Amino acid sequence: MIQLTPNSPHALQPSRAWWPFTRSRELESQLGLLADRAVRLEAQLKELDLRRKVIESEWSFWRNVLTAMPDPVLVTDSFDEVLLLNEPFQRLFGLTQEGVLRKPVDQAIPNAALVKAITGARATHTRGVRRLDLEVEVGGVTRMFRVGVTPIMSLPGGTSEGPTEECRGVIVTLHDLTAEREVAASKNDFVSSVSHELRTPLASIKAYVEMLIDGEAADDKTRRDFYDVISGEANRLSRLIDNILNISRIESGLVRVDLKPVNLDLIIRDALDVIVPQARQREIEVITQLSPAVHQIAADRDMIYQAVLNLLGNAVKYSPPGATITVSTAVDEAAGEVSATVADTGPGIPEKDLPHIFDKFFRSKANNQIAKGTGLGLAMVKHVVQAVHHGSITVESKVGQGSRFTFRLPVLK
Ligand code: ADP
Repeated sequence: MIQLTPNSPHALQPSRAWWPFTRSRELESQLGLLADRAVRLEAQLKELDLRRKVIESEWSFWRNVLTAMPDPVLVTDSFDEVLLLNEPFQRLFGLTQEGVLRKPVDQAIPNAALVKAITGARATHTRGVRRLDLEVEVGGVTRMFRVGVTPIMSLPGGTSEGPTEECRGVIVTLHDLTAEREVAASKNDFVSSVSHELRTPLASIKAYVEMLIDGEAADDKTRRDFYDVISGEANRLSRLIDNILNISRIESGLVRVDLKPVNLDLIIRDALDVIVPQARQREIEVITQLSPAVHQIAADRDMIYQAVLNLLGNAVKYSPPGATITVSTAVDEAAGEVSATVADTGPGIPEKDLPHIFDKFFRSKANNQIAKGTGLGLAMVKHVVQAVHHGSITVESKVGQGSRFTFRLPVLK
């Protein structure tokens, strides 16, 4: 500080020339100090500005990370106000960014259980993810979410003033479990159906072998009958296992899908080469009405071949001698689809069974005496057409008149 008070010893000095000299030296030194300080302040300012820019870019990076997450994400602050929410979160709860930013969560989020979890996690001031399962209505459908609520704690020994950590807010993430739950449920169904289906022929084989061991087959003819039953049941078991492996390998994606431009008519002709001799043996006529237009589809040739073979095979094995099977293809230009139909004049399927006809292991009681089967063929056809090729399959049938299976696949543009 420059001190020029009346009490200063300089104030008594008589020489006018001396005054400015002394004052200017003091001033010079003070100005020098000030200039030094100004330079230091400017450097500090620059550093602060740099730090601000680094913090801003880090914040924008983390904001981008959170908003880019495919799962719904919400971040709140220490006042339980909405700080950030990504698009999936907005979509899930029908919110808009402008509508909820900086709003208290109990006003912003229309789900009481979630609000309770957020405020509860923030108020406990302790680390650790809290998990809860939440049902949310999306477009009239109830979906199940696994929610993770993670308090954001201030670093220990860092910026927090007290000895305990402080909760600066909460990160909420939601993970849609609906599909996983459905897959798990269908796997369970599949495993229990498989066990049930395998147990029946096994039990029968066991019973007949025990009767043979106990000497219950007194004569050669009875013994031969028992051997026939055992052999038949063993064959059924082997067919079941083959089909089960087939369908589960396709469904689990173990079989590589090889989509290539193919001509559906050529695949059908290959399947007919196998089926027509079998049909002829059973005195069944096969009529072919393939579309004259050649339309390519993007398909896995082997899978579509298996699907066609299954439909034709069913038509042959369930139809009586003298029946007719008609195989036709058509193109629906407007829908951009090519369709294939396998129609027979066989026994037909009861109306009450039609909704279950594509279910795994379903066999219509009305027809299961006509031919052997596992109830897995049509389930495989449906999976190949719908899940693998994004097509559709339908069935029309009338008892005593016949059945008509049609599948449609998108035409290659
Ligand atoms: P399966 O191995 O029993 O033939 P599928 O899944 O191929 O199994 O067929 C399921 C059931 O649908 C069959 O058990 C049968 O009752 C009925 N079905 C399928 N195709 C026909 C058809 N062309 N005519 C009559 N019934 C059929």
